[in-house]
Amino acid sequence: MNTHSVARAPVSALLSKLPSVDKVLSQPESAQWIERFGRQELLHALRVVLDQARKMIVDDRNEACLSALWLQQQIERVLNQRHRPNMRQVINLTGTVLHTNLGRAVMPAEVIEAMMLAASDPCALEYDLGEGKRGDRDEIVEEMLCELTGAESATVVNNNAAAVFLLLNALSARKETVVSRGELIEIGGAFRIPDIMKRAGAKLVEVGTTNRTHEKDFQEALTSKTALLMKVHTSNYVVQGFTAEVAEKKIAEIAHAHGVPFVVDLGSGTLIDLAQYGLPSEPTPRQAIEAGADLVTFSGDKLLGGPQAGIIVGRRDLIQKIKRNPLKRALRVGKITLAGLEAVLRLYRDPVTLPSKLTVLNLLTRPAEDMREQALRFIPQISPDLALYKLSVNCHDVKSQIGSGSLPVERLPSAALVISGLDRSGEKNVIRLERLLRSSDTPVIGRMNEKNLILDLRCLQPNREDLFLATMRVAVMGLAGRA
Ligand SMILES: *Cc1c(COP(=O)(O)O)cnc(C)c1O
Repeated sequence: MNTHSVARAPVSALLSKLPSVDKVLSQPESAQWIERFGRQELLHALRVVLDQARKMIVDDRNEACLSALWLQQQIERVLNQRHRPNMRQVINLTGTVLHTNLGRAVMPAEVIEAMMLAASDPCALEYDLGEGKRGDRDEIVEEMLCELTGAESATVVNNNAAAVFLLLNALSARKETVVSRGELIEIGGAFRIPDIMKRAGAKLVEVGTTNRTHEKDFQEALTSKTALLMKVHTSNYVVQGFTAEVAEKKIAEIAHAHGVPFVVDLGSGTLIDLAQYGLPSEPTPRQAIEAGADLVTFSGDKLLGGPQAGIIVGRRDLIQKIKRNPLKRALRVGKITLAGLEAVLRLYRDPVTLPSKLTVLNLLTRPAEDMREQALRFIPQISPDLALYKLSVNCHDVKSQIGSGSLPVERLPSAALVISGLDRSGEKNVIRLERLLRSSDTPVIGRMNEKNLILDLRCLQPNREDLFLATMRVAVMGLAGRA
């Protein structure tokens, strides 16, 4: 608005029309706001909104802020915004099941229930109920981990990065750990094997080349300073073509002949052979142990399907040494994690019900036909609204990813809603819709491919369908607003 108009009230007269804080507080809505959010929050919101109103008047002589309705809506907006959790529930339609940035594994009801109970009540976390004295928190899951992996002993820390770090510090400080050059991995978020070694005080000895490592490379690297031979699962890439790697069994033999342990960082660590569910195979801790690994590390929230945790299983004497390291205390997990981990491990005792109960496995094993059926059911419900904005929606075959560095090159056939523009304005609306969905009360996260919005339905569970459709409806309505 320009400031040259003639018959306008002076700024001071407009400012004096704004209600006082006390006046707003005495209005009937205020009592409800105080009940819901507290007086302090209301005062904060009032200050924010009144500041904004003054600015509108001073800068633009905008009188919209003088209406009671405007004031009420703005106060409500500020209150709701501050009340909304930062840890937002989202609808993951990226097609990546174990999405690290979206919190990895979604957990089963049994697991959530166990975690809630651990949170709400005192629990025997480190308490030996038989003896009535102090116990060891690892015992909550140790027996089950041993049963599932064939290991003698187990311990749990904050995440797999911590597991690798602790293991190296406990067993290889100031000593050498031998790793193939083809396995010096970087995981997203700056977890790099060479860096973690350095920080753990271990000396990295790289052997072989990027594409080929042989038995003699390991043999020649052994010295009196060697503490460990290590294998790192190249979980987020594949080396293809003219390649050679040394089998775990062989590395184990070389290590044991030299009197040092062989350790394997598996990363994803599925506890079962995924091939039995029609999924690509991923090495299991049990296989590594059977091949002669003395210790194996893996994550709790990747294919295992539970809470964030790092699990170390293997030889009892080595686990004991790791547990005596003071860093174990710094990296240990809390009761909620242990309760969740225990509950998720228990599900593995019945491989028949596992694919229906373990959410991650359930999502991974959904046949493309399921997602196609979902898409075809949704299309008639959303396409009329979309058409108003020159948008079309179709069901396309797509490929989902497992994610979290698990099985990087394998793709799972899936189906997606693909939203495209019917003309230039429609194309702009696709971009706006993606943004509107992402900023919804329950954000919907899809992915853009060229000019299309792809919403892979693999991770849309039946009990979230209504929420998705309602969110979609509101977001499409948002297209009516200013671009
Ligand atoms: C994912 C992964 C890690 C890190 O595990 P976090 O649970 O994310 O800490 C380490 N090593 C490998 C091989 C991995 O795949």
